[in-house]
Amino acid sequence: MTSASVPVFVIVGGGASGTLLALHLRNANVQARIIILDPAEKPALGLAYSTSCPQHLLNVRNCSMSAFPEDPDHFLRWLRETVDVGAAPHNFSPRMIFGQYLRQCWHDAEPEHWQVRATDCYREDGQWHLDLDDGRVLLADVVILAQGNFDPAALRNVEPRAQAEGVYEHNAWQQVLYDETGAEMSVVLAGTGLTAVDVVVKLRESGHRGKITALSRHGWPPQAHLSQSTPCVPPIVDAQMLLTAVGCLKAFKKAVRGGMPWRTAVDSLRCVSNRIWLSMPVVERQRFRRHLQRRWDIARHRIAPEVAALLESEIREGRLVFARGHVHSVGLQGKCAEVTVGTSEGMKVLQADRVVNCTGPHRDYLKVGSPLLKNMLERGDLRQSVLGGGLECLEDGALTDVRGDTHGDIFAIGPMRIGTLFESVAIPEIRDQAAALAGLLAKRAA
Ligand SMILES: Cc1cc2nc3c(=O)[nH]c(=O)nc-3n(C[C@H](O)[C@H](O)[C@H](O)COP(=O)(O)OP(=O)(O)OC[C@H]3O[C@@H](n4cnc5c(N)ncnc54)[C@H](O)[C@@H]3O)c2cc1C
Repeated sequence: MTSASVPVFVIVGGGASGTLLALHLRNANVQARIIILDPAEKPALGLAYSTSCPQHLLNVRNCSMSAFPEDPDHFLRWLRETVDVGAAPHNFSPRMIFGQYLRQCWHDAEPEHWQVRATDCYREDGQWHLDLDDGRVLLADVVILAQGNFDPAALRNVEPRAQAEGVYEHNAWQQVLYDETGAEMSVVLAGTGLTAVDVVVKLRESGHRGKITALSRHGWPPQAHLSQSTPCVPPIVDAQMLLTAVGCLKAFKKAVRGGMPWRTAVDSLRCVSNRIWLSMPVVERQRFRRHLQRRWDIARHRIAPEVAALLESEIREGRLVFARGHVHSVGLQGKCAEVTVGTSEGMKVLQADRVVNCTGPHRDYLKVGSPLLKNMLERGDLRQSVLGGGLECLEDGALTDVRGDTHGDIFAIGPMRIGTLFESVAIPEIRDQAAALAGLLAKRAA
């Protein structure tokens, strides 16, 4: 323990994960000093909830966004008391509203906020030492990594001038993209997932009317939620049995053939998917990632019906195209991008005024540009998942070092557990993790 009379818990990252963990630590009455490191002036929001676009809607219904697993209506009550007295449980609120809720959670948690970035974390004399980017060193008894989502992987073969001229945008969340894309400009999106959808919505909100072409190997847009909730049914597989990726797919097809709506079948798996995942041999998980992950993501991470309606109308009017194709290179021709796209009929060249990388968060932590993670991985204090990206940890988030040992005083929460868990990114999972980890740490501090 640090020389202080109470243990020091340091949470690296003050987005939704860090905030919810601090809240649950506070509610569990943990006798510890809780410090959150985050460079943001206004923490709690992180990437997802700092959007200022009112049409960026949650993709989870109000009734499932509570910070507390044991009080599922907490968010809904807050929403009705603070924003909209008539808010319905099955609706999808703007993400910026959920950001306000997270700010309230932060306020209730009352953590110490150090407005810094951690650049290294190492164990010395039985304690964690965190190097901070302002030159200080912070000592901790327990460290929790909550660094969340990083920028996407760099697209290959992008001419540096295309980026320098603002024709290619690596980070879809940069405001400059929306400020400097003229109303009639043509835009190519590398990716057809949730990031691409966010970009379409925000471009249109900013007055953009030009043609948008979203490309990926399969060209599928995300599926949509129905406006009413799907009924809850028991999982379509027996999670106690040793399952294979193909076995799960067969069970899904059988359920749908038997008349179960596909959304219901998909949603039935959510409560057991981590258990199934952890019981699968590595080779099965690799097979799933290779052959089924993308299909699963499209069916499982569905968009709000209002957002789907916007996309449909754009597609109908020919202003938005989802197409198959792999961005092979981005060159610069005058003030335009020349995008070479690999298709089933060979290479094609598209001209566009803007190209945006929408490939989703990078999960190779050696390459995400975090000195903290790079240092820890290179020293062997952490280990990346054999599944290609994300950290290896136990189910409770205890991180594994290069020898495969866990020490019980360094954890990960939220998207950082995705190397090990199947579901670890959305709020329902994050708040469950936060509650469980707070319970575990409360026992430790007692
Ligand atoms: C665009 C988008 C929309 C989403 N929509 C939904 C939704 O509708 N419903 C849902 O349930 N889930 C949604 N999610 C998923 C989920 O809610 C987010 O992934 C979640 O917010 C993750 O929070 P986080 O705190 O782990 O990460 P982040 O929000 O990424 O926050 C991490 C924080 O850590 C800080 N940090 C990083 N490195 C350091 C360091 N070295 N030192 C100090 N600080 C550091 C960062 O600056 C950042 O503030 C969405 C995700 C995204 C990206």
